[in-house]
Amino acid sequence: MDLSTPLQYVKGVGPARASALESKGLSTVEDLLLYPPFRYEDRTNVKPIAQLAPGEMATVIAEVRSARLSAFRRRDLGLFEATFSDLSRGVLIVKWFHAAYLAEVLEPGQRVALYGKVEYDTYSGHLTMLHPEFEILAEEDEADAALHVGRVVPIYEAAGKISTRVFRRLIHFVLDKLAPPPDPLPASLRRRLRLPDLWTALRSLHFPPEQEDLRLLNAFRTPAQIRLIFEEFFWLQYGLAVKRSSARRQSGIAFQLTDRVREQIKRMLPFKPTAAQKRVLAEIAQDMARPHPMHRLLQGDVGSGKTLVAAEAAIIAIENGYQVAMLAPTEILAVQHYFYFKGLFQKLGYQVGLLTGSSGKRERSLMKKLLAEGHVHFAVGTHALLEEDVEFRHLGLAIIDEQHRFGVLQRLRFIRKGVHPDVLVMTATPIPRTLALTIYGDLDVSVIDELPPGRKPVITRHVSEDEIERVWSFLKREVQAGRQAYVVYPVIEESETQARKAAEKAFRHLSREVFPEFRVGLLHGRMAAEEKEGVMERFKRGEIQILVSTTVIEVGVDVPNATVMVIEQAERFGLAQLHQLRGRVGRGAEQSYCILVTGPLNDTSRERIRTLVESTDGFYIAEMDLKLRGPGEFFGTRQAGLPSLRVANILRDAELLELARREATAFLQSGPEEEQRRALEFLRTHWQRRYGLAQVG
Ligand code: ADP
Ligand code: MG
Repeated sequence: MDLSTPLQYVKGVGPARASALESKGLSTVEDLLLYPPFRYEDRTNVKPIAQLAPGEMATVIAEVRSARLSAFRRRDLGLFEATFSDLSRGVLIVKWFHAAYLAEVLEPGQRVALYGKVEYDTYSGHLTMLHPEFEILAEEDEADAALHVGRVVPIYEAAGKISTRVFRRLIHFVLDKLAPPPDPLPASLRRRLRLPDLWTALRSLHFPPEQEDLRLLNAFRTPAQIRLIFEEFFWLQYGLAVKRSSARRQSGIAFQLTDRVREQIKRMLPFKPTAAQKRVLAEIAQDMARPHPMHRLLQGDVGSGKTLVAAEAAIIAIENGYQVAMLAPTEILAVQHYFYFKGLFQKLGYQVGLLTGSSGKRERSLMKKLLAEGHVHFAVGTHALLEEDVEFRHLGLAIIDEQHRFGVLQRLRFIRKGVHPDVLVMTATPIPRTLALTIYGDLDVSVIDELPPGRKPVITRHVSEDEIERVWSFLKREVQAGRQAYVVYPVIEESETQARKAAEKAFRHLSREVFPEFRVGLLHGRMAAEEKEGVMERFKRGEIQILVSTTVIEVGVDVPNATVMVIEQAERFGLAQLHQLRGRVGRGAEQSYCILVTGPLNDTSRERIRTLVESTDGFYIAEMDLKLRGPGEFFGTRQAGLPSLRVANILRDAELLELARREATAFLQSGPEEEQRRALEFLRTHWQRRYGLAQVG
């Protein structure tokens, strides 16, 4: 047996267990050993029941005296109640709701370890625990008993029928049979950072040495845990560093930064760029001038002026005789960009083209011809741009807007439309630094951290839905003062129907009863593209004063005269989406407002609303979002580039991630040659499988 042995060949793992393990992503011995306990329990000197105090978290080992499914409650509630006692003669009442199945599991006479919060039950006068974690201590023999009690015990998340006990046994068995595996982490690094070797670390992760501090263990900060967390981050960062440096060596286009390029940029610019815009353009121009492909992420809060920077970069490419393509996630955004760039480039005589799914057949084939022959200088489009038969004569710069909406493969497909073109990806989702380091570690990052001058932070208010009349009278005043407003209804999941109905109903109500004197417009995803464009155009020109909409306006819409954003049922939106929506106002010199209208709130939705009312800082909001939702959901399930971490946790271990990044970069630059060779070899064999990262991008 070695680390690569499939678990199904391990004694005690039949096909059923193997498939349960597989569903947790555990298929080899290595996977199993890197499945960390989520908690450790000190069962060396467990407190007797008689010494427990209400309010504390405690582990108790006690015997079941009686157990019953409550008959007097509603059946579906399934209240299961058991009485426990121990040698201290203390009595503990334990209750589980919705737990009828426990009638088949717990019976009098069993010895059980319970972990939970101790409370005092005034009704019975006994101590109680509600919903404790529990483990039946039915040891098979002395040796097995020594695994589950009388020590600090690892607690694992169960996988189907594989309980924490089975994990404990299985991992113990494997550690017992396995010969110490070689340690892939470079020895020079290990020595300098004083990290324990792999074998020691693995064993102490699961079965910590006796003297280990329980608090450190549960904080995941013992030397063994630190080593394994560091290692996971190290390989990830080393892999990304290797990717970055090989991309840097690849040959690409060296764009010339001539006086004419500077002239043309000056002619195009409608405003004086901010200092931040100037700085990021300098970074981009420097990349473009080098004879290697640029891979740069341009990050900036909504409204910070990324599009203008993209236009400047496009001029560099076009003046050098190349074409530029820009990929946008939605039709409405593509159309917006199309008009924006057309306006900017008119004086320069550039041809701007648009290609989307709803362009007609004739239109599309004409556009494809123009692209292939090189007559269109700047093409904007949606996924339609990615189709097989869309070709460019010489694509020099590929721009991807709202990067996180596209998977790694789509990004690659887009880039392949040219021969090693420069790549600029733009995102308004302020990605917390830790996440950026894990998913965009192979990109160089430029940040626009300054808004155009004269912008005032949007004032955000939370209003309960029964106070909606107040919101409407506020809207009335703003519109009378010459401003415009959005009223938005959320789209939940993929179905737009409900939101559309809500928006349509509100549109009728608002246009007929509340604001008969104003021009109210309606916009939703089901409308034909031209119809949408028409409505947007009229809103832009100020003909529509109040725009009732579903979330189709989430990104990109740019109407500086709009100063009020009313978001209905705001509790149903995620933080990032609310922040994006709010970014639609506050684009001009007037004070803007965002009004979040909600029904009753639960804890997390209250937290979301509070975050938004308190802050307009996209990075802070993104950090909160990450905390409230966890990294897995941060980008939604469709995000393709997020590596699955096992021992490490980017929220808990941010500082170790930074350390690993520094060490990986330094190692690549100046690690001993022999160690580098071995590290590369390790990466080749483990990169894809263990980190789930594609070799592309
Ligand atoms: P982003 O794409 O980053 O969300 P945009 O590029 O749409 O932001 O810019 C937001 C608004 O600010 C647009 O109306 C744009 O024309 C304007 N803008 C951009 N740069 C400047 C600047 N330097 N000075 C004044 N206005 C600017
Ligand atoms: Mg270049």
